[in-house]
Amino acid sequence: MFSKILIANRGEIAVRVIKTCRRMGIKTVVVYSEADADSLAVEMADEAVFIGPAPAAQSYLVADKIIAACKQTGAQAVHPGFGFLSEKAEFAQRCADEGVVFIGPNPKAIEAMGDKIESKKFASAAKVNTVPGHIGEIDDTAHAVRIAEEIGYPVMIKASAGGGGKGIRVAHDRKDVEEGFPAVRAEAKGAFGDDRIFIEKFITSPRHIEIQVLGDKHGNVVHLFERECSIQRRNQKVIEEAPSPLLDEATRAAMGAQAVALAQAVGYDSAGTVEFVAGQDKSFYFLEMNTRLQVEHPVTELITGLDLVEQMIRVAYGEKLAFGQGDLKIKGWAVESRIYAEDPYRKFLPSIGRLVRYEPPVEGDTAEGCKVRNDAGVREGDEISMFYDPMISKLCTWAPTRAQAVAGMARALEDFHIEGLGQNVPFLAAVMDQERFKSGELATSYIADEFPEGFTGVEPTPFQTDVMTAVAAHMHRTLAARAREAGNGLAAPLSRTEWAVFVGKTRRAVALSEEGGALKVRILDEDRALTLETVDWRPGKALYRGRLNGEPFTATVQPAGEGFVIRHRAARRAVLVLTPLSADLHQRLPEKQAPDTSKMVISPMPGLVVSMDVAVGQTVREGEVVCIIEAMKMQNIIRAEREGVVKTVGAKSGDPVAADEVLVEFV
Ligand code: ADP
Ligand code: ADP
Ligand code: MG
Repeated sequence: MFSKILIANRGEIAVRVIKTCRRMGIKTVVVYSEADADSLAVEMADEAVFIGPAPAAQSYLVADKIIAACKQTGAQAVHPGFGFLSEKAEFAQRCADEGVVFIGPNPKAIEAMGDKIESKKFASAAKVNTVPGHIGEIDDTAHAVRIAEEIGYPVMIKASAGGGGKGIRVAHDRKDVEEGFPAVRAEAKGAFGDDRIFIEKFITSPRHIEIQVLGDKHGNVVHLFERECSIQRRNQKVIEEAPSPLLDEATRAAMGAQAVALAQAVGYDSAGTVEFVAGQDKSFYFLEMNTRLQVEHPVTELITGLDLVEQMIRVAYGEKLAFGQGDLKIKGWAVESRIYAEDPYRKFLPSIGRLVRYEPPVEGDTAEGCKVRNDAGVREGDEISMFYDPMISKLCTWAPTRAQAVAGMARALEDFHIEGLGQNVPFLAAVMDQERFKSGELATSYIADEFPEGFTGVEPTPFQTDVMTAVAAHMHRTLAARAREAGNGLAAPLSRTEWAVFVGKTRRAVALSEEGGALKVRILDEDRALTLETVDWRPGKALYRGRLNGEPFTATVQPAGEGFVIRHRAARRAVLVLTPLSADLHQRLPEKQAPDTSKMVISPMPGLVVSMDVAVGQTVREGEVVCIIEAMKMQNIIRAEREGVVKTVGAKSGDPVAADEVLVEFV
């Protein structure tokens, strides 16, 4: 076996590869850019080699530097992870030429599958179902319109070199094609340096289902069943699971056989993924093949018990697969949630910054019969920078059934605590609690269907209102007791019989008493009692764990104004505990008005101003572009929400801006 492997990647996937190498007794080398000098991957690897400035084009994407690092450290093989050089055939070839083993498929297979047009030709020849469409390049807009009309609307315009959800657009009519074709072409040219475009039928309300394949250098190929990745936003995956709730044995076998046939046809000899779109009727069509380890590979590992990184290393070394298709079985169900540095309350805009608090759930077996796994490349205090992918971690749960795995995910998300930047944990929690998600009726339009106005949190359920009531009462009691011990005469006596608890605008009268180590919260207006016990919280802590009427929960609590803001899953409310008299006064206070921002254009995220397109004194129409801000590799166009004359301009091109910074003010 190899004795030393170099990892040409960063973050979570670098850490993931190091873990397997350690288990296999293989030494590791990571390369790192300026931005990653203090990263967890660098800390964990046996050796680390500096390869240049933060932008990937000057570090992680420079093949020469990677090869030099292999030579310098004596690494015999390179694991490319995903992204960066992982799907570059020239890099795989270069490794071969330099006598370094590329831990991935052979360059010919990457070449054949790396391009969407070419791979569709290949797939059709291997008798794999492909999406109906035009398998070939399109010359100009007039040609695009002709082809779209032949296929029939809606159609999808795609960049042949596209990936990561970029270079894709749906067109419902001629006008969409006339606008969309040049736009996709320009985007493809900019992002991939390749402007070849093709058009295929848009499958309405489809599901994304993909087959994991694994081949060796001796002609053996097996599939490791499917993953469903239908929960996407901007064509990027957010929640994945294995197996798929849609498939039956026959469809699974048919998809698996087609994926294996395609892999065999290209001489595939590593781990790879054949992606399909599937109709609700279980029809399925080939989309593309990803010739690398997939981000969501952990769910497959959890249901098969295999370590895909280990398998990639073994086959790269030349070992034969130690099992055949007949030896493989699906065990249980696994779900993955991608924890992203993005603000769900603000249209999922990227939110970069420091992980002031980073406390993931405990990994391993839970009391509720689940297995929790969290793949991360960060620690508390680390920064999520604007140079790379905004993923913070991948949280997975496994259980014998889908319902248990989903319930386990909802609980694990409760225990995930992040502060310092916007993150999508509350959004993921909302999905786990939706009846539609629990029923398994998924579609790639799921997020658009279920959150048409964007995400604003959810109304608390009766259980959540009870949690917030009891937690608020307990925290108030704890803090009041402390204040009394500290000699604060103003603290209300603990013995008083009635308190008013506000959960948002809802006012409840409660009485508190201690019984056998538990706090009894009697709800006076409803004649019932809550029992709060096994509390794990003290003042200053943001995570509050306990059991309410026997049900375990974790809530996040933050001091705010006179009270607290409590979040349980996707429900968030301001809570306040007062004496009945103060509560009466409180209800008579006028509501606080939010400051008037209607005459301002505010930066919705932190980033870099690419261009400021207005000047003082200029009249700006509604919808006109005010400026462009770049964050997380995305250019965000900021438009005026109403007409006005510019009074002040707060930033110029090249300036970094914070979230909520005033960019432009109108007269
Ligand atoms: P798909 O496989 O359908 O393209 P993925 O989300 O798995 O979707 O990956 C999208 C692209 O972005 C791929 O090129 C992948 O290698 C890259 N990518 C995705 N997530 C990350 C990440 N966290 N770090 C680096 N590259 C990533
Ligand atoms: P990428 O390389 O960016 O991953 P894909 O071709 O895999 O591009 O497409 C990304 C996503 O876009 C898919 O997961 C699916 O949700 C959607 N999609 C792609 N092609 C189609 C299609 N023909 N019909 C409907 N949805 C599609
Ligand atoms: Mg894809």
